[in-house]
Amino acid sequence: MPHLIKKMGDLGLMGLVAPEEYGGTGMDYLAYAIAMEEISRGCATAGVIMSVNNSLYFGPLLGFANEKQKEQWIVPFTTGERVGCFALSEPGNGSDAGAASTVAKAIGDTYVLNGTKAWITNGYESEATIVFATTDKAKKHRGISAFAVPKPTKGLSLGKREDKLGIRASSTCNLIFEDCEIPAENIVGAPGMGFKIAMMTLDGGRIGIAGQALGIAQAAIDCAIDYASKRIAFSAPILKMQSIQQKLADMELRTESARLLTHKAAALKDEGKAFSKHAAMAKLAASEAATFCAHQCIQILGGMGYVSDMPAERFYRDARITEIYEGTSEIQRLVIAGSLIKEYQVL
Ligand SMILES: Cc1cc2nc3c(=O)[nH]c(=O)nc-3n(C[C@H](O)[C@H](O)[C@H](O)COP(=O)(O)OP(=O)(O)OC[C@H]3O[C@@H](n4cnc5c(N)ncnc54)[C@H](O)[C@@H]3O)c2cc1C
Repeated sequence: MPHLIKKMGDLGLMGLVAPEEYGGTGMDYLAYAIAMEEISRGCATAGVIMSVNNSLYFGPLLGFANEKQKEQWIVPFTTGERVGCFALSEPGNGSDAGAASTVAKAIGDTYVLNGTKAWITNGYESEATIVFATTDKAKKHRGISAFAVPKPTKGLSLGKREDKLGIRASSTCNLIFEDCEIPAENIVGAPGMGFKIAMMTLDGGRIGIAGQALGIAQAAIDCAIDYASKRIAFSAPILKMQSIQQKLADMELRTESARLLTHKAAALKDEGKAFSKHAAMAKLAASEAATFCAHQCIQILGGMGYVSDMPAERFYRDARITEIYEGTSEIQRLVIAGSLIKEYQVL
């Protein structure tokens, strides 16, 4: 994988959303969504590595870091030689991210971090992480702060590499903080802003995951059409059968609908407009399209869909995570409904 990450870096993909002044490619979120789709059409693992670096690692820094921090934490991470990660989830809380139990205690001009972050993508390869930890427990989620932490660093160890259903070439592990001392200057944004930073970051991240899901869905359509045009049953290519055509029509409908939503969410973000509801709708629609298309692709391939000689089973395994990370489908529906209730001012 490292050589692939470097290759993506050479193409400008690892720093795609970072401005040129910080060594990035300086492109907008629409370009990012399209690039995420194309990379994930070939490999959803490469897609997630690219998305974590761009939206989850750079996101908090681009939005809230000071100039010195941007120089230190963004510039070296745009080329694919180094990657970052984002540590919000914990063993005890994922959807309920505001209940973070990792603490950061101020001692002189340092913070001392204690706690465990779970499921961290790029956990093994990353050389820096944005960590969310409670600096003031009494304030609940308003007492969470964000920190830039170098890796490796004293007091930070890694858990086992998780054995996953899909996106298997990307590492996922716990980050374990035990009396890990971080200079106070590594705090990103003001103390107490961490939860807001995390939620704003995830809004942008969902556009990237929607792109990843679209890539998987499109790859499933590509694979199904190719196979159906060659596979002969009852003396004709199965593509001529209307039941196969009906499946392909539904796959295309769901994928193109989700693509339009994704591009709209990205365009709203690029225009500086509110995009949280659209990002949630894009991620929800695209991830469900990916799962649907991968399922139908296996069906169209019959027995060949079920074995690893063909990529259909990989699409099926990879698609599933897009309905879980960066907010499950249930959480996306809550975000959409919450926005609607606000728009209608009915509660
Ligand atoms: C491969 C992988 C990579 C990941 N990468 C990262 C990463 O890089 N950084 C990071 O911080 N995290 C990461 N995560 C964590 C991921 O974001 C969480 O797994 C996800 O947010 C769900 O949290 P959970 O697993 O604790 O599930 P839970 O929150 O325990 O949810 C379990 C079930 O309950 C439902 N549920 C929970 N609350 C509600 C509610 N209010 N209403 C309705 N239903 C609800 C959920 O939708 C789900 O179906 C990753 C996870 C995986 C599996």
